[in-house]
Amino acid sequence: MTTTQLKNQFLEDLGGKYPKEEILSFFNFLAEHILKRSRLQMALEPNKEISDAEISQFEVALARLKKFEPIQYIIGETEFFSLNFKVAPGVLIPRPETEELVQWILDEVSLQQNKNLQILDIGTGSGCIPISLKKHLPKAQISAIDISEEALKIAKINAEQNEVSIDFMRKDILSAEKLPLQFDIIVSNPPYVRELEKAEMQQNVLRYEPETALYVKDENPLLFYEKITKLAQEGLAKNGLLFFEINQYLVEETETMVKDHGFKTDLRKDMFGNFRMLKAQKH
Ligand code: GLN
Repeated sequence: MTTTQLKNQFLEDLGGKYPKEEILSFFNFLAEHILKRSRLQMALEPNKEISDAEISQFEVALARLKKFEPIQYIIGETEFFSLNFKVAPGVLIPRPETEELVQWILDEVSLQQNKNLQILDIGTGSGCIPISLKKHLPKAQISAIDISEEALKIAKINAEQNEVSIDFMRKDILSAEKLPLQFDIIVSNPPYVRELEKAEMQQNVLRYEPETALYVKDENPLLFYEKITKLAQEGLAKNGLLFFEINQYLVEETETMVKDHGFKTDLRKDMFGNFRMLKAQKH
């Protein structure tokens, strides 16, 4: 079988399930991963034969795509902030919006000209936030916590693969009474999707991504934000900053709650035009 024949099989088998562009992008990702061939190489040699072993790897991936499993879990990795991260069903797949949050933190830090920062990431998942920060702030001391043992296992592998040192700890933030020390920066992308928002979510997220990383009860959607904001009152150093990724449908509520705890706030939109990030500083 040639690469073009295989590509056509993908288009045919997945046609009713995904838009054409997306199928082609899956195919390219898989070609890169299984055949170690770039999109350009594939285009230059459309009639190159693929071995049976390779075909069967594509077929396994195709079957998983038919069930709407995210391509990142199938390949086992994804890119975030130009770095490679291992991902598996136990961790949330890093989102491009979160890259924007990392960039905002880096912009603020470079304004402060302060290199020996203490930074804490709460609910780290794959470790994408602290690892990207540490790559750009090598002198910072960065700690990261998560409730999930499985997530921490993957986060540690990611730190190792990206050659940075992060202090990972297992902790349920909701039961924490205080933070272990004062931080210059506290950042969190906690669960914020309400049950009522599930209706508008994609099958791949609903079926495969970890519920503990994503969902909160309709009645108390700011649970994590409120707890973290309270902890930040004592847990932030002088001039320290708190950064949140937030729910676009709960912008006002989130901002008001943070302000009510004695912080001044600033909001930013993501690339899709939704308010997605909040920065807070003690008065
Ligand atoms: N932005 C993610 C999503 O839409 C949610 C991330 C989160 O709950 N922290 O799937």
